[in-house]
Amino acid sequence: MCGTPVASGHGHVVDTGHRSLMCSCRACFLLFTQDTAHRSRYRSVPERYLWDPERPVTGAEWEGLGIPVGSAFLLRGDTGVTAFYPSPAGATEHQLDPGAWAELAAGHPLLAVAELDVEAILFRSAERRVDCFLVPIDVCYRLVGTVRLHWTGLDGGHQVREHIDELFAEIRDKARPLITKAR
Ligand SMILES: [Zn+2]
Ligand SMILES: [Zn+2]
Repeated sequence: MCGTPVASGHGHVVDTGHRSLMCSCRACFLLFTQDTAHRSRYRSVPERYLWDPERPVTGAEWEGLGIPVGSAFLLRGDTGVTAFYPSPAGATEHQLDPGAWAELAAGHPLLAVAELDVEAILFRSAERRVDCFLVPIDVCYRLVGTVRLHWTGLDGGHQVREHIDELFAEIRDKARPLITKAR
């Protein structure tokens, strides 16, 4: 972001004007964290990973979103929710059925916890189970990059699936349960 060389474990800042991601040093990262820069153009990507053990997304709910492949992510922004899925051509936007989205959001508080522009809700459907995580947006960039890099043939091939498995294993490992206030 400022040109200072960064270590391999650095944070990222989103430029909401260009919808792009920049590597950032610790000082810039802290400068653009949520509390201090709430509505600024540059926003630091939080480092939390969450999942909701109490309200898993069902296969039927996943199918209701109409995503044509096994993984997708939803981004909340000023203009609403946008869905993308990784494809060999990069991130592909998917037109969400507003009804399906509203229904899903009503039953899953995790979806509303995601910070605008910098966190995403990431889904993966595999072997009749749907995983749903709140992740830093840079993780979605990694997923898209992985698919672009390792996709072969018509269905992607086993290599891309292994890499996606690895990424999701890492996410599962980092994810902490969502704590909601007792009703
Ligand atoms: Zn980086
Ligand atoms: Zn910097």
